[in-house]
Amino acid sequence: MDTNQIISKLDLSNHTVGLGGCKVHKTTLSCCEYNITIFDGGNQIETKTVGNELIRIHHAKILDSDPDLLQKYDSMEILSDPNWDLRTLLSKINDKNEKLRLSVAKKSIIDAIFFTTRAKQDLDNEFASIWIKCSALLIADALVLLSSYQRSPTHMMEFLRQSAKNKQNDSFTIITEILGLERATPSLLARMVKSTIGFSDMIENNGHGSIIENKYRFLVENSLLSDCYFYLVCINKNIILPIRDTIHKRPELVHILKTALDLEHDRTKLEQQANQLQQKGNELIGLGNYG
Ligand SMILES: [Zn+2]
Repeated sequence: MDTNQIISKLDLSNHTVGLGGCKVHKTTLSCCEYNITIFDGGNQIETKTVGNELIRIHHAKILDSDPDLLQKYDSMEILSDPNWDLRTLLSKINDKNEKLRLSVAKKSIIDAIFFTTRAKQDLDNEFASIWIKCSALLIADALVLLSSYQRSPTHMMEFLRQSAKNKQNDSFTIITEILGLERATPSLLARMVKSTIGFSDMIENNGHGSIIENKYRFLVENSLLSDCYFYLVCINKNIILPIRDTIHKRPELVHILKTALDLEHDRTKLEQQANQLQQKGNELIGLGNYG
């Protein structure tokens, strides 16, 4: 679809609007939604349908200085910019692209180590296995950033495969083993997607479910089972991160996450995985010239 059509159908020509995600990075698949950001001072996310296309709308502040967010604006395409605000923002980001990418990678590694510590403090806690999976996914985020790919739940598995080919390291194996990617079967994925959509509806409640359902169907139909598994656990991690400090007060969520994240609870295995992730995190921190 022509992006001008989206702007006119959603009546956005007087707004500051950019297109991000895989559509601009040209890694898109036919199941992928359009990710547009409207700089209107808001912070909510909505899902809309224009014609046959799903559109994920992120509302944002033009003056936001959160590196995590700014890094995601890398290569953003301007769709509408009546006051030249977005042009100014993107040229500022362009000047410090590398620095942003490395600082977000470093933050992901530090968060990953933090989650392993949290898990090790109480391995019998029901949340321990959730923290371990989040930690592995944050290490995956860092790995794709360090290889100059984008943090995209749909495409990251492929990026990780590609970067593993170029480097002699064990990171890819550790991540795939801890996440449990070899367990991806159509029947398991069918259960995982149901719980993932349920979790998204409970926490985000912004129509994300239709996008998740669409991706799941495409990836399974095209036999991309481990990509689908990775996509689903990554979506869950992205929903958990903003509520990471309060989620333990909601033990009822463990039940849905058990299926959504395909959790196991083997104390010895969890301890081993936490140690592996901690070691990998420290090794990655040691490597970096993070500016
Ligand atoms: Zn995509």
